[in-house]
Amino acid sequence: MVRIRLSSLTNAQVGQRESVGLNLGQFSLEDLSVAYLKGVLQFTRVANGILVEGTLKAAVETECTRCLEPFFAPVVVELEGLMGLPGAPLSPERPVRVTEDGWADLAPLLREYLWLALPSSPLCSPTCAGLCPQCGGNLNRGECTCSGEGPVDPRWGILQTLLDGE
Ligand SMILES: [Zn+2]
Ligand SMILES: [Zn+2]
Repeated sequence: MVRIRLSSLTNAQVGQRESVGLNLGQFSLEDLSVAYLKGVLQFTRVANGILVEGTLKAAVETECTRCLEPFFAPVVVELEGLMGLPGAPLSPERPVRVTEDGWADLAPLLREYLWLALPSSPLCSPTCAGLCPQCGGNLNRGECTCSGEGPVDPRWGILQTLLDGE
């Protein structure tokens, strides 16, 4: 839940605006784990709802495609969405509405934008050393116990080629 109080806008005239600064520490949006989320959102009363716009910076947990370790990837999202007024129907395109008492839970909107902002092939670090092609140990943590000699298992060789091609 990322609840924001918007009671001053629900009964306001069209064109009325309000800015809200967000600075959240670690929290979860269903299956997404977020380390932080910060930025300023601008809410504008429009004829059929409240428009929300703004740029947010966050770090979202994902898995490194090279070493397979979970890490928090920094993302920037340009949020823009229309929230319904109290009683308005919800839909996939409009997953948020303001409640009768003037609160809006932005979580469904934030979750969607953060998902889309995640890189398709995330790397925990540009210099991530990945996994050892022979033993599968995490080279970032020095887990490899191979001598560096001996034949490379051909299956790991293919994987290494794929990883190198990223
Ligand atoms: Zn990695
Ligand atoms: Zn190894």
